[in-house]
Amino acid sequence: MDKLLEKLRAAGYKVTPRRKAIIELFSGKGGTFSPQDVQEVLIERIGQCGLPGIYRNLETMAACGILFRIADFGGERRYALCRADKTEGHHHHIVCVSCGKVGNITNCQYREGMNIDGFRIVSHLVQLNGLCESCVTKKKKKKGNEQ
Ligand SMILES: [Zn+2]
Ligand SMILES: [Zn+2]
Ligand SMILES: [Zn+2]
Repeated sequence: MDKLLEKLRAAGYKVTPRRKAIIELFSGKGGTFSPQDVQEVLIERIGQCGLPGIYRNLETMAACGILFRIADFGGERRYALCRADKTEGHHHHIVCVSCGKVGNITNCQYREGMNIDGFRIVSHLVQLNGLCESCVTKKKKKKGNEQ
């Protein structure tokens, strides 16, 4: 939690009660949250707050590497906490499509400036979607019961 607040400060952002509440939410039980989910919790904890401000804060935290925006999660905009620490460096995420659990991919070979098929890479996005171990187990059990 302190480490995450430190990331925010290091990027030049103030730790406001709202930002703190957002980080608390994500670092709590984990999982993925939509801006609407975040708004619900924040209203409960610190009173009225508008959705546009929440969108901005979520994007700010994504830019700081605290959160990341999940691509392709049923067409919904959702965010999750980046749980990698500094030692892991360049990495991407693997997301469980069933429960939203997030893992890290640390063996990415792409780097800015590389040449691939006549293109010079200027940026890249990688996200893998999968099923986490416990969701695979749950699915197997369910299948077993049905048979
Ligand atoms: Zn991460
Ligand atoms: Zn899962
Ligand atoms: Zn990469």
